[in-house]
Amino acid sequence: MAYTITRLCTDCLDTACVKICPVECIYEYAGSSPSHFRNQLYIDPEECIDCGACEPECPWGAIFQEEAVPEIFADDIALNHAIRERRDEFKLATYRPMPQPTPDQVAENKRKWGADPSLTSARLAAKYKHEPRKRA
Ligand code: SF4
Ligand code: SF4
Repeated sequence: MAYTITRLCTDCLDTACVKICPVECIYEYAGSSPSHFRNQLYIDPEECIDCGACEPECPWGAIFQEEAVPEIFADDIALNHAIRERRDEFKLATYRPMPQPTPDQVAENKRKWGADPSLTSARLAAKYKHEPRKRA
């Protein structure tokens, strides 16, 4: 099992997850398809040891255990898995501290990506359960 970074990370990039991850398995996209890979971080699902340390560190609530990724963000699982086939297009993310977002900013970010802004990550996962899909 692994954790997944979803689109709620887009353009936030405070990298608190990078600082806490014990195995350095969080990457940024550095290839030539930025329209396909948004400006966010991604977790290598095979290097991730499923420790869960990053999830509560993310101030934007962008990280979910893969099985708990809300259906509205389910396509993001494949983007994290793409690291396995496109390794040369990703580089290890480095820690760059950023100011904490306000609760209003976090809520607006959820709204922007189609999620109910009043819900915590756990409630988002419960409300928008995804069906596991086969990936190439
Ligand atoms: S679950 Fe643990 S190993 Fe996996 S990305 Fe998060 S901090 Fe790193
Ligand atoms: S802590 Fe959250 S928002 Fe920040 S880079 Fe990591 S996943 Fe993205």
